[in-house]
Amino acid sequence: MSKATSTVRKVLIGGNWKSNGDQAFMKSFVPNVLNNLKFEDSKCEVVVCPTLLHMSFAKSLISNNVQVSSQNVSMYPSGAFTGEVTSKMVKDMGFNWTLTGHSERRQIFGETSDAVGIKTKEAIAAGLNAIACIGENLNERTENKTIDVCISQLVPILKNICDIKLWKQIVIAYEPVWAIGTGKTATPEQAQEVHLKLREWIENNVSQEVAKEIRIIYGGSVTENNAKDLIVQNDIDGFLVGGASLKAGFTTIVDSHKFKF
Ligand code: PGA
Repeated sequence: MSKATSTVRKVLIGGNWKSNGDQAFMKSFVPNVLNNLKFEDSKCEVVVCPTLLHMSFAKSLISNNVQVSSQNVSMYPSGAFTGEVTSKMVKDMGFNWTLTGHSERRQIFGETSDAVGIKTKEAIAAGLNAIACIGENLNERTENKTIDVCISQLVPILKNICDIKLWKQIVIAYEPVWAIGTGKTATPEQAQEVHLKLREWIENNVSQEVAKEIRIIYGGSVTENNAKDLIVQNDIDGFLVGGASLKAGFTTIVDSHKFKF
């Protein structure tokens, strides 16, 4: 077992709202659920991802230490790129986080792993923390290619972020595509196995220190019912939650971080 696995890292729980939610939802969900979450900054971070359009509105309703993240950023700096929002703009509007490379971006919008590498670089350069998402589809898992696929998605991130110090701003979200929005969760053992292998790869290809510190979070049908069994795994440092982050049960998912300490 990697030496890196013995450390307990600060848990990160992300709520990816995707293209869901409107002002009425936020006016109810933020005060009734998010503002009642209680967690110590030294043990847990909670980051919700509304649409770019709703980020400021959601933030204006939050009264505790819950943070707000973008779901995506442009791969380009400012300029003639109609419809794109840059990382610098996200930072300028007072936000510190973005997702990059979510599988829906990859699959539906054709984002390549190289594009995800560049987006992650742009985000880091703008001073954002990036939750870079990777994961295999069902065929790839069946063909035993899970780790190869995940590593092929990590390599362009490493190529774009050569300065090891900047890896402090990166979180990896392992999200098997077959588990996203399907109700099929990876078992705690399946997820732990991949997280450990990813951490070992980072240890060998980035640095031992980064491997020890980087948070590798799991996503794919995380619910209030399976969060505890997943979070107690050594190399699972939190979650990226989709559907269940829009419901009151998100509280139980956030509370599951306490089982780590
Ligand atoms: P899900 O989505 O929790 O609804 O499976 C996870 C994600 O897409 O990040």
